[in-house]
Amino acid sequence: MANFKALLATKTEAGQSLTWQELGDGDLMEGDVTVAVSHTTINYKDGLALTGKVPVIRRWPMIPGIDFAGTVTGSAHAEFTPGDEVVLNGWGVGETHYGGYAGRARVKGDWLIKRPAALSAGEAMAIGTAGYTAMLAVLALERNGVTPSRGPVIVTGAAGGVGSVAIILLARLGYRVIASTGRTSEADYLTALGAAEIIERGQLQGPARPLGKERWAGGIDAVGSHTLANVLSMTQYGGSVAACGLAQGMDLASSVAPFILRGITLAGIDSVMAPKPLRQEAWRRLAQDLDKDKLRALTTSKPLAEVTQLAPEILAGKIRGRVVLEVG
Ligand code: NDP
Repeated sequence: MANFKALLATKTEAGQSLTWQELGDGDLMEGDVTVAVSHTTINYKDGLALTGKVPVIRRWPMIPGIDFAGTVTGSAHAEFTPGDEVVLNGWGVGETHYGGYAGRARVKGDWLIKRPAALSAGEAMAIGTAGYTAMLAVLALERNGVTPSRGPVIVTGAAGGVGSVAIILLARLGYRVIASTGRTSEADYLTALGAAEIIERGQLQGPARPLGKERWAGGIDAVGSHTLANVLSMTQYGGSVAACGLAQGMDLASSVAPFILRGITLAGIDSVMAPKPLRQEAWRRLAQDLDKDKLRALTTSKPLAEVTQLAPEILAGKIRGRVVLEVG
């Protein structure tokens, strides 16, 4: 097959560098399914990998990109045949196995999900790991009994990728959504996605009291640190908070008070190694529950070549919603 372009991250004593290279199928890593990549995306973690701010990449050289959507071109895996439309999220792709910032990818078939027919490849990447993680968080709240009738749900990091998709999912499911953002200039955007109330993230960024006023039945937190501690301390009796991110920090200076005095559950969300049945359920629910007009409203499309410029922007919290990257 013809060669394809790939972004290659290399590391020397002088540091990490990124170059576009022409590769062939023979350059790809081992796997039983080869995919022609049509769309990929940039997540916060991709920003960390591309800038080298955190050692996300653990094998060199590496093709970054933790997500891709495309069409199977070759398969030795029983579940897939050429022509199948597939999606990949995580599994160490873009970290220890060549990832999505390339015209082709070869991976283990066990890592792939068949793209739901209701979603195009572009829509699947508008969702990406960020949106699939938002769905995992919604599923966790449901499992823990947070129904719309129990009260509002707070979403932190609201104008980012996880936050924006979480808002449209929760609003569609009938929850009253409180959006916490540092970008109050994006209030109209967040309201259009389905937020009923917007709070300034500064209210949640300082050290938390053990227990605060009960303000929400649950939360989806993409921010961590003091923000998560405050979200926990203000969660109503018996509520649940799904923790998936660390945009403010990895620390968590909380107390046991919300757990032992209010019976609150803290649900950890990991998208990378989530088992396949849970992924399939998340993608089934995304295809069923996501309002596609709203998904379009939070999505920007760019050519893959612009990904290196976007990396520092996502880390600076300057990207609104989600960016789909079109692959040549
Ligand atoms: P984005 O950069 O798109 O969104 C993060 C948002 O967090 C920003 O838009 C901003 O929202 C807010 N934010 C940024 N910096 C700060 C800060 N210092 N204090 C408080 N809020 C801040 O990233 P994603 O949505 O792609 O990812 C969000 C988080 O979730 C990341 O930490 C990421 O690593 C994590 N994640 C984890 C996954 C998992 O498997 N557990 C999977 C996917 C993501 P606003 O402007 O509205 O305040």
